Amino acid sequence: MRILISHLHGDHVFGLPGMLHSLSFMGRTRELEIIGPKGIAELVTAVNRVVTFYANFDLRIREVRPGQIIRDPEYKIHVSAGKHGIPCLAYAFEEVPKPGRFNPGKAKKLGIPEGPLWKKLQSGRGIKLKGRCISSSELVGPSRKGLKITYAVDTRPCPQVVKLASRSDLLIHDSCFDETAATKARDYGHSTAAEAAHVAKKSRSRRLALFHISAMYEDASPLLAQAKAVFPETILPHDMVTVSVPP
Ligand SMILES: [Zn+2]
Ligand SMILES: [Zn+2]
Repeated sequence: MRILISHLHGDHVFGLPGMLHSLSFMGRTRELEIIGPKGIAELVTAVNRVVTFYANFDLRIREVRPGQIIRDPEYKIHVSAGKHGIPCLAYAFEEVPKPGRFNPGKAKKLGIPEGPLWKKLQSGRGIKLKGRCISSSELVGPSRKGLKITYAVDTRPCPQVVKLASRSDLLIHDSCFDETAATKARDYGHSTAAEAAHVAKKSRSRRLALFHISAMYEDASPLLAQAKAVFPETILPHDMVTVSVPP
C-alpha cells in the first residue's frame, strides 16, 4: 500500500513507472501511496504525463523530510537522512506495541464465560463478575514490542542511521563494497559490508541484511564473511527472497 523511495538516483526510481503501469494493467483498484524525497512527485507526474498514463487506482504521492513520522493505526515510519552524494532518506518501520497474550485457561477457571467479557479484558478494561472486580492485568500479559525494520541504502555509515536503527529486529543496510574497495565506498557515498556490520552492532540491531551489493562481485561471499566477523547475525539475501523476522 506504500512504496518508500530513498532518493532520486536512477537505480532507485527507474523501476517505478513500469511497476505502476503493470499494477494498473493487472487490475489494481486499491489506493497506493508513494513516499519519497522532494522531487519524487515531479518525477512520477512528469513520466505519467509524457507517456499518457492514468492509474486505475488512487495514486497519492507524498514528499517527506528527515525527522518526519508517517503514522498509521498499526505502525509508524520514522524518516531520517542517510549520507550520500544527494539528499537520501532512510526509513524505520515500527509496529505499534501489540496487546499482551490473553490466558483463556485462567479465564475459564475464574468462571468468566467466553464472549464479550473476554473481549473487554483483552482490550485492557476490567470487568465485574458476581460482585467481584477482575482487572485486565490478571488475565493479559504485558504488552509486546512491535517489530522494527530499518532500511538505509546508498549511505555512508553515519550517526543518524545508527540512531534511526536503534534496536531494530532487522537492519537492511547499504553494503556496496568489500574491505579492499573501502576508498571507493567513501568516494561514492556507500558502505562496505564491515561498515554496515558496525552500524548493526552500534545500533544494537538483532539482525543485519547486506543490501545493494555492487554488480562487480560475482560472488559476494567475502562481503558476508567480512560483515560476520563484526556482527555474526548477518545474512546476504538474494533478490525476491522472503526473510522472516521472528518476534
Ligand atoms: Zn544513490
Ligand atoms: Zn543505489
